[in-house]
Amino acid sequence: MASADVIVISGGIGGAATALGLVEEGAEKVFDFDEHLPSLRLSRGNLGLTWFMCKGTNNSVYAEWCRMATEQWPQFAARLEKKTGYHLELEWTRGAIQAFGEKQYNTYATSIESLKVVCTEVGLNYPVRMLCRKEFTELLPDIQVGEDVTGIMCKVDQGHVNPKKLLDAVRWAFQQKGGHYYGAHSVTAIVPETCGANGKNQ
Ligand SMILES: Cc1cc2nc3c(=O)[nH]c(=O)nc-3n(C[C@H](O)[C@H](O)[C@H](O)COP(=O)(O)OP(=O)(O)OC[C@H]3O[C@@H](n4cnc5c(N)ncnc54)[C@H](O)[C@@H]3O)c2cc1C
Repeated sequence: MASADVIVISGGIGGAATALGLVEEGAEKVFDFDEHLPSLRLSRGNLGLTWFMCKGTNNSVYAEWCRMATEQWPQFAARLEKKTGYHLELEWTRGAIQAFGEKQYNTYATSIESLKVVCTEVGLNYPVRMLCRKEFTELLPDIQVGEDVTGIMCKVDQGHVNPKKLLDAVRWAFQQKGGHYYGAHSVTAIVPETCGANGKNQ
């Protein structure tokens, strides 16, 4: 029976990134199990947005994580690309969400203010703002804005990545670093034992 120092259950982006972090931090024998066929995984089929905008209105820890993670995206992507040879297709163009009508415009404006407070409390800025139609069309004249749009929540320093390539690169980097990935393997039970060498579970 094989033995591991750490077993990660999930080869989605959460599990794969955790497994990579573990081997990068020096964990010796890390196994990553995933039961899905690669084509079925949520982590491959999402929109790939690398945003912090709107995240964590009711949860300051989540807001802080999203803000910090987004700041680190360009360096993280460059490092992963260099290490693996994958092109993650990160486009650091901007993020924008349209508001329809006055009510939604005001709701968005209020959420920006509350996220500013949340981020300031943990020493981070929250440089998001509402643009009126005129400001937005002057900023991006090539984008046609629908008539019902009253304003746009906008931020420059965020973008999107190719989620499929990201997942492949993270998993590849994990294996390059000596991690063991087991696709199409379901973990059906976790049974603690004390019989392994050095007290390690088997
Ligand atoms: C429509 C949509 C759009 C989204 N857009 C974005 C976006 O733009 N940006 C963004 O950051 N996020 C986005 N998300 C959210 C993002 O996709 C998820 O947060 C992320 O994929 C979750 O990754 P995960 O690894 O936690 O879960 P998953 O990708 O679901 O991975 C979990 C894996 O664990 C495996 N597993 C579970 N139990 C076992 C077991 N017992 N044994 C072995 N394997 C097991 C499953 O097979 C699965 O492959 C979006 C989500 C949706 C639905």
